[in-house]
Amino acid sequence: MPAVLLEGKTVALKIKENVKKEIEALKNQYGITPKLVSLGAGENPASEIYLKSQEKNAKELGIDYELKKLDANINQDDFIKAIDSLNKDKSVHGIIVQMPLPQRIDTKLISRYISPLKDVEAVHPQNMGEIVFGKANILPCTAAACMELLNSISSLELYGKEAVVVGHSEIVGKPLALLLLNKFATVTVCHIATGQRGTLPEFVKKAEILIVAVGKAGLVKGDWIKEGAIVIDVGINRVEGKIVGDVEFDKAAEKASYITPVPGGVGPLTVAILMRNVVEAFKQQQ
Ligand code: NAD
Repeated sequence: MPAVLLEGKTVALKIKENVKKEIEALKNQYGITPKLVSLGAGENPASEIYLKSQEKNAKELGIDYELKKLDANINQDDFIKAIDSLNKDKSVHGIIVQMPLPQRIDTKLISRYISPLKDVEAVHPQNMGEIVFGKANILPCTAAACMELLNSISSLELYGKEAVVVGHSEIVGKPLALLLLNKFATVTVCHIATGQRGTLPEFVKKAEILIVAVGKAGLVKGDWIKEGAIVIDVGINRVEGKIVGDVEFDKAAEKASYITPVPGGVGPLTVAILMRNVVEAFKQQQ
């Protein structure tokens, strides 16, 4: 029996409807429009699509959006000063730092300078830390998108389930592992060393819930998928002009109960969560 498709669009629409209503109510209550600023340095063609999607979604939902591109040659101290002035600006409620930054700027250091109250991508250590305690109001967008997809399966109970996360990045794999753990899933995190040791198939085969965020097309073979597993493929890879995920989709879909398409799975949800985070940040600041 082929898997049911877990499409992000449907869930994203619901989230955006709620965000729009909340923004209208907040505007009426406070007489202020939430504002999101996306700060970058220099041109970066790879992030253009995401930036356009941020702007389009913000406008649709009634959020003011400003794209700030600083000089490509800016030094780290001046970049930090630019963040600080956004932190102090009362008309700005959400700050995104566009990645990648020029090499001379330390990305991990930069995330510490964004006010945790305005940190709508949850990259500040304080917001990351809140996840450990299960108290975070603002969650990393892609990790939260994966959780929303799982929540959309009404019959799914995460308690005690075998969840395997492949990829341990700070923006996806690590926070996701904690979010699953907070729901009492039994979580295994695989990464490059698992791949190099050759034990990745072994872990994938026991996953009732499998989430893959690596960025290598076809890394996870269809015949590794456990019968009835739920498969969320975060990966985005361009192969022969087409966008594909990290999981061999056709073969995996024959064994999984639910599977995300790529594109159209996690991607559309990520930006919806970002907008929801802007509302949370706005509320925290009032
Ligand atoms: P990253 O590039 O920071 O890290 C990759 C991870 O994969 C690391 O944890 C690494 O250890 C692991 N890895 C590498 N080779 C492996 C192997 N052979 N076996 C097992 N693990 C291996 O990751 P990221 O920034 O989380 O991005 C991962 C993928 O998700 C990329 O394709 C990215 O484009 C995509 N992505 C999609 C969205 C979305 O909204 N859909 C958002 C963010 C990232």
